[in-house]
Amino acid sequence: MNCEVCGNPIHGEPQTVLIEGASMRVCGNCVKLGTKITETVPRPSVVTSRSLAPLIPRVDIVEDELVLRDDFGTAIKEAREELGLTQDEFAMKLNERVSLIKHLETGKIKPNDMLAAKLERFLKIDLYVSPEYD
Ligand SMILES: [Zn+2]
Repeated sequence: MNCEVCGNPIHGEPQTVLIEGASMRVCGNCVKLGTKITETVPRPSVVTSRSLAPLIPRVDIVEDELVLRDDFGTAIKEAREELGLTQDEFAMKLNERVSLIKHLETGKIKPNDMLAAKLERFLKIDLYVSPEYD
């Protein structure tokens, strides 16, 4: 092929240079007229094994593993009695049905997350414990 600047045959590898914004293949003599373009090889994405994310505090993990304690019914009943409330009074204060309270205290019904939170707040007890709890 010929040099795109001077028209002379190019011996060997043609050089690609930038001349006035245009990329041209030129001979060795005309290389100095432009800015040499270095072949742009797509860089492989650098994968760093180093993670910048802070370590998750261990306490958060433990919290996620909390389970409803087996004796939640007894715990509710005892805490209620300590407050001197009957099942009816307790149900009224929680705005729940008495039948639900009875079932909770006998362990027939497990409280859902919202009810458990309400019971925990009201009775000041922990219904959710870590699995290691005995
Ligand atoms: Zn040339």
